[in-house]
Amino acid sequence: MATILPPAVLGMLGGGQLGRFFVAAAHEMGYRVWVLDPDPNSPAGRLADRHLVTAYDDYAALDQIAAACAAVTTEFENVPAEALEYLAKFVPVRPSAKAVAVCQNRIAEKTFMRAHAIPHGPFAVIRADQDISAADDGLFPAVLKVARFGYDGKGQARVASREEALHAFHAFDGEPCVLEKLLALDSELSVVLARDADGRIRAFEPGENRHRGGILDVTIAPARVEPQLREQACAIAERIAQSLDYVGTLGVEFFVSGGALFANEMAPRPHNSGHHTIDACVTSQYEQQLRALTGLPLGEPRMHSRAVMVNLLGELWFDGGDHHRPQREPDWTVVHREPGARLHLYGKHHARQGRKMGHFTVIGDDADTVLEVALRARAAVGIDDGDQ
Ligand code: ADP
Ligand code: MG
Repeated sequence: MATILPPAVLGMLGGGQLGRFFVAAAHEMGYRVWVLDPDPNSPAGRLADRHLVTAYDDYAALDQIAAACAAVTTEFENVPAEALEYLAKFVPVRPSAKAVAVCQNRIAEKTFMRAHAIPHGPFAVIRADQDISAADDGLFPAVLKVARFGYDGKGQARVASREEALHAFHAFDGEPCVLEKLLALDSELSVVLARDADGRIRAFEPGENRHRGGILDVTIAPARVEPQLREQACAIAERIAQSLDYVGTLGVEFFVSGGALFANEMAPRPHNSGHHTIDACVTSQYEQQLRALTGLPLGEPRMHSRAVMVNLLGELWFDGGDHHRPQREPDWTVVHREPGARLHLYGKHHARQGRKMGHFTVIGDDADTVLEVALRARAAVGIDDGDQ
């Protein structure tokens, strides 16, 4: 494929914040972007050159995208793989429908890991009650996760026993699930990388992720683990990207348990834990997505600064986190006054509990100072750990 140069139009399926940062990166480099997302106020749609407000399986809209766009990508793993497959008949689609299909279904994802000898935790596929009866005793205590459409800890239940697993499976309406052994976590890491159509890979430094209520709260980059573990995580993520013949930006989440790495899940798109690459790296994960999509050489992923990213969730928009109170804007001066702090808001009108509304990244030369400043700003803006 010839390199796609500006001012070409690129297509983006999905209009969330990940798409918004892609649109910003594309505009910066002279491209135009059409976004398809059913939400008229979608964060990326509001920046896009054109926003098609419709369903992902609206084939007339897909035809318009195929006619106008030089290439198409996605920022949302639940875009129907069929829509990507359809578009691929007319324009380059990166990542491919096949790679997205593996990442959007936990059964396909875990089966892929097993087939490619990617280290992962013990699990069983659950399609019926009998699969729970037949599950290995060693899996408990476990986490039952629906195979499709789960995110931010949704569609998951921690289960201590077979009985609890059965109960949770029925509460999920018997949807296909994976039952995973609950691992004792030393920490969680993620690797974001980009792979181009010729198979060249550039990985960012792994980040260390802390969650709160099942949602990413803080990313510390680089992760504070042995360099050897960071290298291993990158090597595993690279093997995943190769095995999927992946083209674009890929996020891979890892558990560290007993000092060893276990791949948790893959995201066929930029990753929340890679937001800091905007402010702390020579090339951001969004620009890498753009470069891989258009056939430009991948950029330098090197971190020029240490970084800590803090997610800003909807509850911050309500006094005391009480969503019965009127929505109001948090006082951002407490972030802006901190050295090295960069605030990003996604332009979402309605705050909801757990909704990702924005984030800030603190950058600097000294890891301890950066973390201290980020945690101070996090507390000052009103994120409190009391309810955890
Ligand atoms: P998602 O991010 O799509 O909601 P994950 O599978 O990444 O789903 O789970 C969310 C978080 O729940 C993980 O980052 C981790 O903190 C915790 N978790 C999930 N599965 C396990 C497991 N098998 N053992 C221990 N902790 C887990
Ligand atoms: Mg996850």
